[in-house]
Parts: sequence; structure tokens; C-alpha cells
Amino acid sequence: MFKKVLVANRGEIALRVIRACKEIGIQTVAVYSEADRESLHVRFADDDVCIGPAPARDSYLKIPRLIAAAEITGADAIHPGYGFLAENAEFAETCVASNIAFIGPTAEQIRVMGDKAAARAAMTKVGVPIVPGTPGPVEDVDEALGFAKEIGFPVIIKAAAGGGGKGMRVAKDADEFARSFQLARSEALSAFGNGDVYVEKYLTRPRHIEFQILGDKHGNVIHVGERDCSVQRRHQKLIEESPSPAVGPELRAKMGAAAVAGAKAIDYVGAGTIEMLLDEDGSYYFMEMNTRIQVEHPVTEMLYGVDLVKEQIRVAAGDRLSFLELPERRGHVIECRVNAEDPSRNFQPSPGRIDVFHPPGGPGVRLDTHAYAGYRVPPYYDSMIAKVICQGRDRAEALRRMELALESFIIEGVTTTMPFLARVMRNPKFRAGDVDTKFLERETDLFKEPA
Ligand code: ADP
Repeated sequence: MFKKVLVANRGEIALRVIRACKEIGIQTVAVYSEADRESLHVRFADDDVCIGPAPARDSYLKIPRLIAAAEITGADAIHPGYGFLAENAEFAETCVASNIAFIGPTAEQIRVMGDKAAARAAMTKVGVPIVPGTPGPVEDVDEALGFAKEIGFPVIIKAAAGGGGKGMRVAKDADEFARSFQLARSEALSAFGNGDVYVEKYLTRPRHIEFQILGDKHGNVIHVGERDCSVQRRHQKLIEESPSPAVGPELRAKMGAAAVAGAKAIDYVGAGTIEMLLDEDGSYYFMEMNTRIQVEHPVTEMLYGVDLVKEQIRVAAGDRLSFLELPERRGHVIECRVNAEDPSRNFQPSPGRIDVFHPPGGPGVRLDTHAYAGYRVPPYYDSMIAKVICQGRDRAEALRRMELALESFIIEGVTTTMPFLARVMRNPKFRAGDVDTKFLERETDLFKEPA
């Protein structure tokens, strides 16, 4: 097993990884930017290294500094968390070349899945359904328009290197197409340094269903059930739950088998997620694979009573997965992402000092956060400050627990999305499980503060 793991991340996920290491008995190294000096992950780690100024490109994204920090502290492995360098093949490669284990898949696996067009091709090869679209990237607008007409409008133009909901443009009809196509290309180029885009059919009311994947170096690849992440704002997830209200045992078996086949196609090692869209007519399509731990991984952990981060670490060290059969489900689990943002102002970030902080508690409530009273939410990074995860015997109990947890979670000093999330818990359509990725766009009342 590893002796010392450097966590190349910040915030709640850095804390999460440090906890997993401590449980196994591994020493930890925290890295931090000048803006994160007061962060909890720094206090909880055995060692810590400042890696640069606040902007991520000068600190958390600087590969040489991370490698140097690992070498100075004698770390023999690096856990990348999510975001930042978690899906950067060059980083994985550099770690290995420096004799430091990368806790995640191989650089090659990251590369294939990081290119959405290449990933679609790999999935087609093993018979996993993909959203109808162009076989690869297209450069010429007229050629792309030809494809779009064949597929049928509306279509979505996506950056091959895309992620985090960026570099995607919808075109309703042929008139709109040329403009959307150029916009998507220039957005892709500036956000990812790669202007490749492809075109696929835009499903009008799909659900986002993703499968948790685990693979080891002994050829085992399994799925650990699905998560329904259909409640989104501008293609970004806000609420995730499992089991999905739309997935029964039969569909779970079919979609799960497709997800495992997709991951097996590249001999996947580590924790990953196969994201799919489930259409109203019950057809499902591979969308992309995330080759890292996800924000919403606690949903699966609580539902099945497993520890995905410990599995990740053990598998990277060469161990076998600790289970190969899907464990028994424990009721229903739901997660809300609490962001320091103002929903009534189009989710504008609200950084600043947290003056009062009273966490929720009670049976079935898990809180993953790096925030505390006196903590300053820096303006430089993602605005997520906590994840509340609630489990119940059934969906109704989980939802009620979440509603109460959000109401009793007191944060003063910054505006948060909690009152908004609590309103979603009370929404009749949401309660009935009747949601798709366009749900929030239709329910505009949810954004208004009650008088
Ligand atoms: P990213 O990598 O930026 O997260 P994804 O490919 O995972 O992008 O897509 C994010 C979200 O965008 C999905 O959850 C879904 O809401 C929406 N989306 C993506 N592709 C389509 C599509 N073909 N039809 C409808 N919605 C889509």
C-alpha cells in the first residue's frame, strides 16, 4: 500500500480523500494556494505545501509544482480529486514518469474518454448506443449543416474536449445553425485550447442517468448502480439521487450492462462514471465517461454502504475490488449541492466570510464540507461550499429529511442556494419524480423568493 498520498485538490474533496487515507493508515500531504491558507484540508493533512498564488492556473493546475511538492514530502502517490487536473492525461503521465502513482486510470484511458468524439467511436465498437450524430469532429459548417439536416433538428454542437457544461450550443433549426456552430467552435477553442466540435441530436426531454463504475488491475469491471442527475441548471447538476424514479430492475440491468461493456472496452481501472441520456420512449444513449471520482459519489456510497474513495486508492495500489456483486440497496438517497450563489440573481457567486455556521444532523444525514464559521469563501474557485446527502427508507422519507436538513442548516454571511433547494424538495412535480434536464427551465417560480 502507499505510504503517503498527496491530494492535488482543495475544498471538500481534499478533505474526503484525506479521511479515506487516514482510515487506511496512509499519511497525507495537502497542497494549497495562497487563498486557501486557512482551509481545513491544510489542517487535517500530515504535511502541507503552498503551491502558488490564488488563480488555479498558477497553483492547482501547475503540474511541475505538484510533482515537486510530492518529491519534497516523499509522497508515493497523488490523488487528483475532481476538476483541476483530474482528467488531464499529461498529469497522469508525468506522475508515472516521476515514479509517483496516479490514483486514477491510465493516461491512455483518460485520453480516449476525454475526447468525446473518440469516446463515441469506442462505444460504437462494442455496441453501446450513442446519441445519433456525426461519427467524428466536423470542421466545415456546410458539411456540419448537412449532418444536422440528416439527424433532424434540434441538434447540439459539442466541444470534443468539453466538460462542465461548457462548449455546448443548441441549434433549433437550419437558420440558427451556422451561428451556433461558429460560437461553439470559438468557445471550445478558448475554453479547452481545441476547437474540434461534433454534432448530435438534441433530445428535448431526457433524463440524465449515470452509472458508477469500478475497475481493478485484475480485469474486474463492475457498476454500482445509477444516479439520476436530471435537476440541472444550464447543463450543470444541482441535485442527484438514487435509485432513479425512472429506472426499474430491468432497465437498470440493461443500462448497467451497457455501462460495464463501455468501461470494459478500454479495460478501465479505478472509479469512473458512464453518463447516459434516457429518452422519454425508454431509449438510452451513452453521452460521456468521466474518468475520476464525481462530486455526487456519496449518493452511491450511502445507498450501497461502500467507500468509493478507498476502493480507488486500493485499486491504484494493485488490490482487487473489495466486492464484485452489487450490494443490497438501503432505501433511497438524495444529494443537494449547496453553493455560495444567489438563485434570484441568476446564480451569481456570493463569496465572502461565513459568520454563522450550524450544520444539519440526525439519522440518515451526511454532510461533506470544508466550510466553518469564520471561513472565507474565496472568489477564485467553484462556489460549492457543501454537499448535503440524505438517506431514507424510501424516496419520500429521503426527500423530507433533505427538506428539514436544508431548513436547519444555518449559514450566514454569504447567500446560498439552500432556500431554493428546499423549494425544489416541496415541488409537486419533483416529488412525483417527474423531472428531466429541462425541469428547472419550466419551473420558473422556484427561483422567486416567497413574499
Ligand atoms: P459536460 O461534459 O460539459 O458535462 P455532457 O456531455 O456531460 O457535458 O452534457 C451535460 C448535460 O448537457 C447533460 O446532462 C444534458 O443535460 C445536456 N445534454 C448533453 N447532450 C445532450 C443531448 N444530445 N440532448 C439533450 N441534452 C443534452
